[in-house]
Amino acid sequence: MKYKPVKNFIGDELIDGGGEKLDVCSPLDGSVISKVSLSAAEAVDKAVHTAKEAFPAWSNTTIKERVQVFFRYKQLLEENMDELSKLVQEENGKTYDESKAEVLKSAELTEFACSMPQLISNEILEVSKGVECREEHHPLGVVASITPFNFPNMVPNWTIPNALVLGNTMILKPSEIVPLSANRIAELLKEAGLPKGVFNVVHGAQEAVEAICDHPEIQAISFVGSTRVAKIVYQRGCSNLKRVMALGSAKNHLIVLPDANIEMTASNVAASMTGCAGQRCMAASAMVAVGSVDHIIEKLCEEARKIIPGKNLGAIISKKAKERIENYITEAEKDGAKILVDGRNYKVEGKENGFYVGPTIIDYVRPEMRIAREEVFGPVLSIIRTKDLDEAIEIENSSNYGNAAAVFTQNGGYAKYVAERASAGMIGVNIGVPVPREPFSFGGWNDSKFGVCDITGKSSIGFWTKLKKTTIKWNPESKVNWMS
Ligand code: NAD
Repeated sequence: MKYKPVKNFIGDELIDGGGEKLDVCSPLDGSVISKVSLSAAEAVDKAVHTAKEAFPAWSNTTIKERVQVFFRYKQLLEENMDELSKLVQEENGKTYDESKAEVLKSAELTEFACSMPQLISNEILEVSKGVECREEHHPLGVVASITPFNFPNMVPNWTIPNALVLGNTMILKPSEIVPLSANRIAELLKEAGLPKGVFNVVHGAQEAVEAICDHPEIQAISFVGSTRVAKIVYQRGCSNLKRVMALGSAKNHLIVLPDANIEMTASNVAASMTGCAGQRCMAASAMVAVGSVDHIIEKLCEEARKIIPGKNLGAIISKKAKERIENYITEAEKDGAKILVDGRNYKVEGKENGFYVGPTIIDYVRPEMRIAREEVFGPVLSIIRTKDLDEAIEIENSSNYGNAAAVFTQNGGYAKYVAERASAGMIGVNIGVPVPREPFSFGGWNDSKFGVCDITGKSSIGFWTKLKKTTIKWNPESKVNWMS
């Protein structure tokens, strides 16, 4: 095995989770690269106590001091970019360039957290003569972050820099499928000077997550993963009176109008559906083709055929996931849809045990088909034909999810019409992956997110802090009344 067995990182110590041992597989070639032992309630409890012990000292430092650690952390992410990217690539299976983009994004997220002192300077106002109100952001205490397999470096960094800079201490529970990057993050934070116990990693699956939801000393939980689990975590955490933000699955619609720029639309849609092998919550999954757009579909297929698994298209996370994706395609074909580009049964030479699906474009998908409604999470695009824009918007609006929606047109009026009516948290106009960049925040609507606030950007401040409002009369002797 290339890497040592992965252990929990609690208060700077590496401690075995003690439970079932799972193989950590590289989807690139199916090889076992490490093992991880799953943790249960006992390990979560130990991590929470460690984080709780670290909280008073950490939260009592000024935010100006706390960001110094993150300036150094950002530098370490940059200095170790190549190694961190290769680790993401190995455990997740995405391409090297995609892995690097993920780590670069982590550096950008950290850069944003370093600007926090400028963003949360406290509010103060003389509300009546001699009487002042002030409002301060206070950390919550011990918080938890539960993350999915598809961005082993970036999604943990959606939460770590902001939550910690704002004075909280944290337990990270990464996906048990990709546990390696989480421990490297912990090592780099330690190297950056983060005090012991402020950041801890507990590896595990369902049992560890349930222990997090139930632990009385955890004040808030952020979750990123499937809607099925997001609902469980949201309900269980809230019923234990915690603050919970749970991001779920997605089914993103790209509405393409006949006047859209052909080259730009085709390359954007192809990149959106195949980036990270379609295993990202911002991937294009359904293209709603309004009127006659055959010229764009033709070009799109041409672009998709240039995307080759094992070269500029990464692997699927597991054999099971590959089979699930291929079953969706086969079922759509049986139901009468037309496969224009077929990525099933793909083998990469020299990596025959890896898990690959080539780009797949399916035309004449009907809105009621399973492939049109459910998250496929693979490099697969369903084309749904509509006669007009209102019908296209109706299809987008009928989805249970609401992460992203995009429109491709050169007509500003049509673009605005769609942007105003789409039921999604993140909208793209001639952009296939409309991820807002800092300081704007990331978060969907409907079944793609439960809870208030967004997970990144300015909106996350509301999630990771509580407000203290103080009213002060500076001169008790003065004759002013409270309204003067
Ligand atoms: P997942 O829901 O299977 O796992 C996410 C986390 O939940 C992991 O840490 C896992 O260990 C834990 N978990 C799994 N089953 C559990 C259970 N029964 N009870 C408690 N905890 C459990 O998700 P995944 O397969 O790792 O990630 C892919 C999903 O994440 C996709 O649906 C994707 O859309 C979604 N995602 C969403 C966003 C977003 O911003 N909305 C971002 C990234 C990924």
